[in-house]
Parts: sequence; C-alpha cells; structure tokens
Amino acid sequence: MSTIVTKFGGSSLADANQFKKVKDIIVSNEERKYVIPSAPGKRNSKDSKITDLLYLCHAHVSTGISFDEVFNHIKDRYCGIVKDLNLDFNISKHLDIVKNDLEEGASSDYAASRGEYLNGLILANYLGFEFVDAKEVMIFNDDGSLDSEATNLALNSKLSKISKAVIPGFYGADKDGNIITFSRGGSDITGALVAASINADLYENWTDVSGFLMADPRIIKNPKPISKITYTELRELSYMGASVLHEDAIFPVREIGIPINIKNTNKPEDEGTFIVKDTDISTKPTTITGIAGKKDFTVISITKASMNSELGFCRKLLSILEQHNISFENMPSGIDTVCLVISDSQLKHKKESVVDEIKRTCNPDTIEIHPNLAMIATVGRGMAKQRGTAAKIFTALSNAEINIRMIDQGSSEMNILVGIENDNFEKGISAIYNAFN
Ligand code: ASP
Repeated sequence: MSTIVTKFGGSSLADANQFKKVKDIIVSNEERKYVIPSAPGKRNSKDSKITDLLYLCHAHVSTGISFDEVFNHIKDRYCGIVKDLNLDFNISKHLDIVKNDLEEGASSDYAASRGEYLNGLILANYLGFEFVDAKEVMIFNDDGSLDSEATNLALNSKLSKISKAVIPGFYGADKDGNIITFSRGGSDITGALVAASINADLYENWTDVSGFLMADPRIIKNPKPISKITYTELRELSYMGASVLHEDAIFPVREIGIPINIKNTNKPEDEGTFIVKDTDISTKPTTITGIAGKKDFTVISITKASMNSELGFCRKLLSILEQHNISFENMPSGIDTVCLVISDSQLKHKKESVVDEIKRTCNPDTIEIHPNLAMIATVGRGMAKQRGTAAKIFTALSNAEINIRMIDQGSSEMNILVGIENDNFEKGISAIYNAFN
C-alpha cells in the first residue's frame, strides 16, 4: 500500500467544523498515514492566528505585563474545539502546563510551538492516531539550523514502529531539549521532512486554495489554475512572491522526487496542483506556467571606463554588499557598466553607507540610484530552447506602453525577468498574462 503524508494548514484546523472536514479527508483514504497539523488559523478576516497570540503572550511576559486576557482567548479556542467535537479529552490540563511554563520564562520559540503541539494532541485524539511530539523527531543544531541527518534517523526509527501518527508541525528541539521553531509557515517543512524520511509516495499539503494560479488573483480576475508545475518552476515563482507553500519545504522532497499535491480542505474534490520532477511532465513548447512579481527594488548603476579590464572590480563591489549584510537580486552588466538590483527591504538605512563605500573602494566615474523598480518573472519550462517567448513578453509590454528598464534570463531558460516602474506593476502583469491566454 502507498503512503501519503498529509499536512493541514491553520485555516484547515481553525475550528471544530474544519476538524470534521480534515477527518473526512483522512478516513477517505487509508494511505493517509502521517498527519502534520498547523496551529489553528483565522476563522475569518478579523480573527487572530493562535501562533500570533502565543507570540503576544511571550512578549507580555517579557515586558512584565499580564498575559491572562490573551491566554484566556487561546484557551477558549482550544476548549471550544474539544467541546464542539464532543471529545472526552482534557485539553485544559495541557493548557495549564503551557501557561505555567510561560510564566516561568519559557522562550518565544517554545511559546509559538505550543499552537501546533496542542492542536496535534487534539487531532490525534480525534482521529485515534498516535501522537508523536515533534521535539523527539525534528532535531536542531545549537545554532538553530536543522540537523537533517539526526532528524532523518529519529523519524525513521520512530515511524517504523507506528502505522498512523499525528506529528505537530513547525517545531523540534536541539540536543539539550530546548524547543526550536522553523521560520513562520514552517509546518510545510515538517511535512516535507516526514515525507522524505519515510520515502512517502505523495506529500499532500492541504490549505484553503485549490493549488497555484497562473497569476495573482488580486491582479488578474479568475486566473487559470496550474495543474502541474516542476519543483524548479515553483522555486522561481515563489522566490518572486507567489506563495502557498514555504520555500524550504521543496528541498527535502525534491531530492528524492516525491510529488507534492496542494489541495483545498474546503473543496477536496478539486485536483489542486501537483509539483513534480522536471522530467515527469511533457510540455507544450512556448507555453508559460505562471507569472509572479514583486515591487520596491532599487538599482544602483555604476559606470567606469575600462571596467571590463579592471581585475577584481566586481569582487570589490560585492564584498561591500557582503560587509553590509545585503543580498542582491540581480547584477546585469555592460562593458563599462554594472547594475546592482537590490530589494528595498535589504537596502533600507544602508543606502548612503553602501554608496560611499563603493565610491571610496571602486572609484567609479558615475554612480546613480534608481528607486521604484518592480520585477516580474514569467516562468515556464515550455520556453526552454524555443523561440518567441521573450518576443511575446516584450511586445505585450510595449503595446501596454510600458518601458522595460531591465531584462534578465536565467541560464535554465525557464524564467524571463523584467524590471519596470513600480507604478506599471499591475498593468505589466496583466499585459503578459493576456499575451499568453
Ligand atoms: N503556525 C505557524 C505560523 O503561523 C507555522 C505554520 O502554520 O506553518 O507560522
């Protein structure tokens, strides 16, 4: 029998009604053996995520403010779920322990992790599955990074003895038992690690949308869904802002080629999106898979006569960024010019210092700052080794009267990146989307 690892996001477990949908999904397929829950998410747009409330409790304790009110709110949410599911399960006992630990100064990672921990206890009870505390199977190094080898070993030895289990997402522990969390949205990573360790046949990631769409629905009305996408394409799109899955959740399953299926808990009959190996899909030439983009980049444009023959020029330039702890997005260059494209979130408060240092160290003829750049990535395996995709993109932008300030194509030939004015961002995405649909 195949094995499916299923991860459910916060909105899929936000209340008892959502828990019921989750149970229906799990019992409908015997192959769904290992379940990774997030903490309860928002029930409506004005609601709070339990994880955020737990961080708030920790912040209150650290500043000496009473956190009773916030904690009671958390308690009501969990007790409400248990009551509405008619479970004979004493969640209050566990909540009291968490409250006590917080009062005694538990870390912020510990505080945040309890959202998944408590939800996992309830879900395991509700499904009749064994509860596996993630602190036993997600092992972190002292510097906060994951010890992949130890994690793999721990997961293997634990799960080989258990046929059906709930393993809370988002956290683990270091070798001294201190709770450590992944970055926000990290339950996706837990699911991927579990799937990889047991060599699952499929990793299902259940959320509140039916997979990926070709473009942001806030910009394009009813964009087409993506039924299949490769890991590489997804990486390119999520890097440019398309987000459904945590970026780091792709690596563990990609290595061994486990497909990921993004599914909608509220519409389980929808097929969702399959994320697969590059070699697993046939492709129609010149088609694109998706479009994503981000606003607010700055271009630092540097000119210097004979730059091309000056040894070490780029090394000096890049070491200035490194000293300022800045990563750059792109570095298009000409014979005597080079541009650094940097996200404003990276550059903030450091612009003057970076420019001064470039002037001092690289002695350029000119250095200009161009703010307000938006980047749009048009991604598709169908464009590799085919002609016409770039022409179509540029024509579409030109017809929409949009000036292209920067062009870049990755060596994989799967992504054409254009830089345009922030103000033209939405118009640019629409123009490209319409050109291919
Ligand atoms: N609950 C955590 C968060 O809100 C982790 C997760 O949901 O994946 O970020």
